[in-house]
Amino acid sequence: MKELIVKIDNKVLYLRQNKKCNNYKFIGRPMIKLSNEAQNRLIQYGIKPSVQRIAIMDYLLSNKTHPTVDEIYLALHPFIPTLSKTTVYNTLSLFVDKGAALCLGIELKNARFDGDISSHGHFLCSDCGDIHDVFDISTEGLMNAVPEGFVLEDIHVYYRGRCKECQARTCSVNN
Ligand SMILES: [Zn+2]
Ligand SMILES: [Zn+2]
Repeated sequence: MKELIVKIDNKVLYLRQNKKCNNYKFIGRPMIKLSNEAQNRLIQYGIKPSVQRIAIMDYLLSNKTHPTVDEIYLALHPFIPTLSKTTVYNTLSLFVDKGAALCLGIELKNARFDGDISSHGHFLCSDCGDIHDVFDISTEGLMNAVPEGFVLEDIHVYYRGRCKECQARTCSVNN
């Protein structure tokens, strides 16, 4: 029987592989609990919590960088060897379908994901590629503009430009 000690963002988990189905199960009490927030989010949106799903949601909730499939895979794979890139992709698609996470279409070549499902906009820096959250956006006018008879499901507010850090960098190079 294979046992694993997993550390994800300072949370330590003990997992044991079930021989029959190869799934990992929690054993004993984790030294530091895997975020209840992640597990609760899954349950709240009707998603059956598995270790991999909790780990992926936990990563989304504790990394506000709007990560890509590749980033999540690279971060979690060392701790969960059974995790594949396809699983990460399918899990994120499930989250998005169920409304438990957002998929940002701001960059066409690389979908980015967000665990923050509150109403907020995104600012993409065209230099460093970072996506920053923009809060306090008023969506009231946007909502009122929906043509009559149409049913609104989502509003995405995207900004594109250059972040503070990138501007500071170019300024200091020029000076
Ligand atoms: Zn930047
Ligand atoms: Zn966001």
